[in-house]
Amino acid sequence: MELKQLGEFGLIDLLKENTIIDPASVILGIGDDAAVLLPTPRQLQLLSTDMLVENVHFDLNTTTPYQLGYKAIAVNLSDIAAMGGAPKHLVISIAIPNTISADFVLNLYKGMKEICRQFKVNIVGGDTVASKNGLVINVAVIGEVEPAQLQRRSGARPGDFVVVTGMLGNSAAGLDLLTKGNWEELDFAWPLVTSHLTPKPQVCAGRVIAAYSNSMDDISDGLASEANEIAKASNVGLRLFSQKIPIATEVYQAAGFLKRPELDYALYGGEDYQLIFTIDPDKYSLLPLEEIGETLTIIGDVIDGSAKVELVESSGKVVQLEARGYNHFK
Ligand code: ADP
Ligand code: MG
Repeated sequence: MELKQLGEFGLIDLLKENTIIDPASVILGIGDDAAVLLPTPRQLQLLSTDMLVENVHFDLNTTTPYQLGYKAIAVNLSDIAAMGGAPKHLVISIAIPNTISADFVLNLYKGMKEICRQFKVNIVGGDTVASKNGLVINVAVIGEVEPAQLQRRSGARPGDFVVVTGMLGNSAAGLDLLTKGNWEELDFAWPLVTSHLTPKPQVCAGRVIAAYSNSMDDISDGLASEANEIAKASNVGLRLFSQKIPIATEVYQAAGFLKRPELDYALYGGEDYQLIFTIDPDKYSLLPLEEIGETLTIIGDVIDGSAKVELVESSGKVVQLEARGYNHFK
């Protein structure tokens, strides 16, 4: 169907279906000038936003609308997870070029609604406008966190372990395969491409870990960048061991195929949306692994020092790890 026939309000009527998953905290969702929400008493509110721009953050030749919708929400939930919080509500603004059909927008929202259902998040509003230059999707999310669970980047203390959830580099290796083409024939490519197109935010892991950790961040711009953010915010040093960084077999296979060092994907690639956290060694042994539901890997420790990250290479050589990552203005 054409958007022209449907019109802005016809479209919003369709998008409105199945947007409220947890009605107890919503007094008014889509349909008025503003949503009306009921916050949980004695919890802090978290507010964050992330924007995806066509041909900067995504390419419509390599993603389906469903995957794009899923990812647009995932990256926002990841920021709430990184604070130790639970995402609750979100608003979605879209600027749509006239090359896009109503079906595309409905499939975009299908992906959005699927991840919202998985994480019990309500869609309570948004804005719909026309675009003269590509598709733009902006999501803003509200989350909640118990004051004692709040995780800042500034909480790292010398002596802490530095730990990451899951595997690193999958998403960047997946993107590399997507842009090189012909990845469908490579059996190792599927999990990597999937990590890139539909990343899973570590909300459940973040909720559990936050009761034990001292600082946390999500890995959106690559390990090198996020480790430097924690070192800077906490005014400490981080010492990471390259051999301990968890890299999946498929990333080694992709790196071999594309003739790139596999460590680059993990350090500088980004978009893994795993968590990096620092934790007192005594508390680390108390972490309930089954509840976290992801592998944990100690990749280094927090040391005295100011805002620097050291990388101990496999040869034993120590180099400074620069905050090189995906930076939009470089
Ligand atoms: P207003 O003109 O008062 O800003 P709109 O006509 O833009 O309201 O929107 C009508 C209702 O639909 C509002 O509740 C708004 O939050 C919601 N809405 C608009 N666009 C979207 C969208 N893309 N996704 C979700 N909700 C939307
Ligand atoms: Mg109004």
